Amino acid sequence: MDLVIARPEGLYCPPGDFYIDPWRPVERSVITHGHGDHARWGNARYLAAAPGEGILRSRLGQDIDLQTLPYGATLDHHGVKLSFHPAGHVLGSAQVRLEYRGEVWVASGDYKVEADGTCAPFEPVRCHTFITESTFGLPIYRWRPQAEIFAGIDDWWRQNQAEGRASVLFAYSFGKAQRILHGIDDRIGPILVHGAVEPLNRVYREGGIRIPETHYAGDFKKSDPLLRQALVLAPPSAAGSTWMRRFGEYSDGFASGWMMLRGTRRRRGVDRGFVLSDHADWPGLLWAIEQTGAERVMVTHGSVNVLVRYLREQGLDAQGFTTEYGDEDDSDDLPGADQPGADLPGANQPGADPEPREEGP
Ligand SMILES: [Zn+2]
Ligand SMILES: [Zn+2]
Repeated sequence: MDLVIARPEGLYCPPGDFYIDPWRPVERSVITHGHGDHARWGNARYLAAAPGEGILRSRLGQDIDLQTLPYGATLDHHGVKLSFHPAGHVLGSAQVRLEYRGEVWVASGDYKVEADGTCAPFEPVRCHTFITESTFGLPIYRWRPQAEIFAGIDDWWRQNQAEGRASVLFAYSFGKAQRILHGIDDRIGPILVHGAVEPLNRVYREGGIRIPETHYAGDFKKSDPLLRQALVLAPPSAAGSTWMRRFGEYSDGFASGWMMLRGTRRRRGVDRGFVLSDHADWPGLLWAIEQTGAERVMVTHGSVNVLVRYLREQGLDAQGFTTEYGDEDDSDDLPGADQPGADLPGANQPGADPEPREEGP
């Protein structure tokens, strides 16, 4: 019996009668992490790993019906034993382990295998069937160690400072932005953030993650000399908006795994691309899959066909799983575009920059 099947509402566990990261509203949802394409509004009940509670409440509303479980703790539901295990993707991200009559399935959600200090590191979980993402499931995707990327950002920031201009770095506001803040050298100068980023910083700080002091960019006048010393973190949708005018002359960069592709950087029209992803690269995906010991692998969003073919060549029983998950770095590509996860109520609170919203209306 399959412990997880694809239904129009999302990935469904028949014996447990619940959905994992459903894309349509359901009665009982199990959520792997707070990105908009995985944690959506409208479910009657939510179950998630405890470290993700602050994120989910900040994004979906303080009053959602949310039950949490510490990593590794087991909940028995209709005979299905369910537990969460760290996915190393963003704060609170989890793989979902399901055990029923001796069969073990693990649904990974999104994951990254390099530990980054902003969330519990990825933990391989033995299982019979592994449901994996494949956002960067092509052999060309191989990440450099993150320390090199952070050193590159630091150097770029110092050089811009020396030339008297701000360094504006576009990064997804939940996860990527906090990872950058945690990884860069905050002694170089002041750090300014867009209103979409700061509410998430707060949740990370409350979760005990070291995030250096940050200021709202909106509090500074264009004439303020401090702007020209600053590193500014903003969501990609702020690019080209009136919000950017306060910085006068600036250098801009974009931090994303997609920056490996020259064409993407050109499309973004930024000065610098920093290849930094919160997803596993090709070797990371293969390593994680191997560590599970699974004989059967179901592949969700990303380069599904390439990874499925490769795994079959390795003798595994692999198949694609059609889902409606997207990619957070690409989902906020166009301001106001109709994307999944058009949320982030925190961006509208007092003191936040009124425009633009990170994601759609
Ligand atoms: Zn994600
Ligand atoms: Zn995803």
